[in-house]
Amino acid sequence: MKVRAQIGMVLNLDKCIGCHTCSVTCKNVWTSRDGVEYAWFNNVETKPGIGYPKDWENQKRWNGGWERTASGGLRPKQGGKWRILANIFANPDLPEIDDFYEPFDFDYDHLKSAPEMEAFPTARPRSKVSGERMEKIEWGPNWEEILGGEFAKRSKDYNFEGIQKDIYGQYENTFMMYLPRLCEHCLNPACAASCPSGAIYKREEDGVVLIDQEKCRGWRMCVSGCPYKKIYYNWSTGKSEKCTLCYPRLESGMPTVCSETCVGRIRYIGVMLYDADKIADAASVADEKELYDAQLGVFLDPNDPKVIEAARSEGVPEDWIESARKSPIWKMAMDWKIAFPLHPEYRTLPMVWYIPPLSPIQNAAAAGQIASQDDMPDVKSLRIPVRYLANMLTAGDEAPIISALERMLAMRSYMRSKTVDGVVNLGVA
Ligand code: SF4
Ligand code: SF4
Repeated sequence: MKVRAQIGMVLNLDKCIGCHTCSVTCKNVWTSRDGVEYAWFNNVETKPGIGYPKDWENQKRWNGGWERTASGGLRPKQGGKWRILANIFANPDLPEIDDFYEPFDFDYDHLKSAPEMEAFPTARPRSKVSGERMEKIEWGPNWEEILGGEFAKRSKDYNFEGIQKDIYGQYENTFMMYLPRLCEHCLNPACAASCPSGAIYKREEDGVVLIDQEKCRGWRMCVSGCPYKKIYYNWSTGKSEKCTLCYPRLESGMPTVCSETCVGRIRYIGVMLYDADKIADAASVADEKELYDAQLGVFLDPNDPKVIEAARSEGVPEDWIESARKSPIWKMAMDWKIAFPLHPEYRTLPMVWYIPPLSPIQNAAAAGQIASQDDMPDVKSLRIPVRYLANMLTAGDEAPIISALERMLAMRSYMRSKTVDGVVNLGVA
C-alpha cells in the first residue's frame, strides 16, 4: 500500500445559484493579465449546454481516444511517430481562441435611444470585440444563451445518451442546472503525461497539479491532452497556465478564492488518503460501467488503524492524517456516497466531485411529496433526468445517483420538519 494525501473539493450543485462570483474573484486574482484575458480557471456552465471551451465534452473531436505512456499515465492517442511529429508542429487537437466564446454585451442604450415604435425596444447583443450588433448569439457557454440555436441541438450529444431523444425540445421537459468547473487536480493527470518538456508535475505532499513556468516550452500538448480542457495558453508569455488550487493560500491555511467567495456556500475542501499503487489499475478498467466503483476503490479509510500506520510509515504528516479523518469530502464521497467525480470515463481520476442537483423539484413538490420523510417522491419524477446526471457523473450507472438523490430528499424533508426557536412556520412547503 503506497499511501498518499490529496486535496480535493466537493461542490454541492443543489446549492449553486449560478452567480459566477467564484469565476470573477478567481479571474481578478489569477488571470487579469495580458495573454490570458480569455481564460477562466474557474467557470460556471449552464447545462445542458456546450460549455467552455465550446464542445469540451466532445472527446471524439479533441482526442480520438487515449493511450498509456511508459510511466502508466494517459495521454491522447498519438498514432505513431508521424502523428507525434504532426502534433508537435501542428497540434491539430487544440481548441482555438474562438472556442472560448466571443465576449458580448447587450445594447442597453437602444432601450433609451430607439425611435417610437409599437413594440417595446429590445436590447440586442453587441460584440465586445468588433462593437457590431450581433444578429444572434451563435453560441455561448450557458444554456440560456444558446436556447433554440443550432448548438442547442448539438448539445444533445453530451450526456444525453440513453435519454428519450425529443426530451430537449419539449418546453415542459426542459431543465437546467449549473456546473462550476475548475482543474480537477487529477490523480492520473493526462496533462502531465502529455507534456514533452516534463514541466507539469503533481505535488507529492498534497497532489496539486502545477506547471513549472521555467520548464514550459509552449508545446500545448497539455491543452489538447486535458480531457476537461482546463489548461490555457498564455499568448503573451508563450507558456501554458492552469488553476493552481490557490496553493499559496492553502499553504497559509486559507481556502481557495473560489471557495471563500462562493455565495451559495457550495464548496467543501478536504483531504483524502489514497493508494497510489491502485491508480493505474483503476484508470484502465475496461468496462466503463465499472469505472466509478474502481475509482472509489483507490481511496483509503482514514479511520482504519492499518491505513493510519501505513500513512505514517510513508511520511504523511500527522496533521494531514488528522485532516483526512475529519474530511468533509471523505464523508460525502465515500461514507454518504452523495458526491461523484465528473466524467470518470475520462480515466484521469478527477478530484473535484459533485453532489447532483435536486432542483427544480416543482412537480414533486406540487404533488405534496417532499413534505415528510415518510412520503418520499420517486426520484425519477424529478425534472433533471437521472440518466443525464448518471452520464455526467458515474459513466452511466444510475443506481448510485438515485441513492444519492433519495438521501438528499430525506435530509431536506428532515430539515424542513425541524422547528427553530423564534422562527414562525408559515406553512410553506
Ligand atoms: Fe491536468 Fe486537466 Fe486533470 Fe487538471 S483536469 S490535472 S489540467 S488533466
Ligand atoms: Fe455557484 Fe458559488 Fe460560483 Fe455562485 S459563487 S456560481 S453559488 S459555485
